Amino acid sequence: MNGKLIVVGTPIGNLNDMSSRAIESLKSADFIAAEDTRVTVKLLNHFGIKKPMISYFEHNKYQKGLYIRDRILAGETCVLVSDAGMPAISDPGEELVAQCAEAGIEVSVVPGPCAFVSALAVSGLPTGRFTFEGFLSVTKKNRVAHLESIKKEPRTMVFYEAPHKLLRTLKDLLFALGNRKIAIVRELTKIHEETVRTTLQDAIKKYESDPIKGEIVLIIEGCKEEEKKSNLTLEDSIKMAQSLLDKDCTISDVAKEVAKTTGFKKSDIYKGLIEG
Ligand code: SAM
Repeated sequence: MNGKLIVVGTPIGNLNDMSSRAIESLKSADFIAAEDTRVTVKLLNHFGIKKPMISYFEHNKYQKGLYIRDRILAGETCVLVSDAGMPAISDPGEELVAQCAEAGIEVSVVPGPCAFVSALAVSGLPTGRFTFEGFLSVTKKNRVAHLESIKKEPRTMVFYEAPHKLLRTLKDLLFALGNRKIAIVRELTKIHEETVRTTLQDAIKKYESDPIKGEIVLIIEGCKEEEKKSNLTLEDSIKMAQSLLDKDCTISDVAKEVAKTTGFKKSDIYKGLIEG
């Protein structure tokens, strides 16, 4: 008889968020598929659990997935965990679930904390309809295509981001979407948990002078009907250009790029930037 795959959510910071079902599932497993066994062993030690582990991560997920599937088909029960939060959400697991489902294996879930759902809940932005955008690509072509595809997105948008890439991402978002409301949600469930509710322009000013640390989720308001008709003024475009200036680009480059998105003349934006 087949065993099964259990997808188990684990804490995103505070170990008290580990559910009793999550602990029971780990105890009941024949083996655990973990994103990083060095991280998961700490969790297991904390709860006094000893189980064989195998590492299942981005770069071995196809072969390891087949290996895990075959062990489950032979009757074993596997618990899948990631370093933190829900496996398969911007984390390894999606393929393993698909491989097991395709093989007719029972896949069940023990839900746990998920960074983006928690961040959305405290953002203060509309939660009725939203899109989860994950991480923006670091490859310029994919990043530009992603940003282009969400310009007119009316739903609230949720991004994961690393702190050292935050400023670049805020600037790219401002450039692509214009000035919007944003909630920057940091270090959820940890000592330095904070939610900054602001705008893209003000966030850029804030983090330029005061770089951020820790794990972050960005929640951004969707495109409003009136924005779709674009009633952006030249003054708005110059303000946007001012926020985008940095040491890596010339005034002329910024004026050119902003002119492309807003439709105003490059020379007018350039003049606005020079006059300051
Ligand atoms: N699967 C996990 C989940 O859904 O909760 C997310 C894994 S993803 C590789 C890691 C990203 O989740 C981080 O870069 C950050 O954007 C977000 N994240 C994880 N823990 C967080 C926390 N405690 N506070 C804020 N964001 C967090």
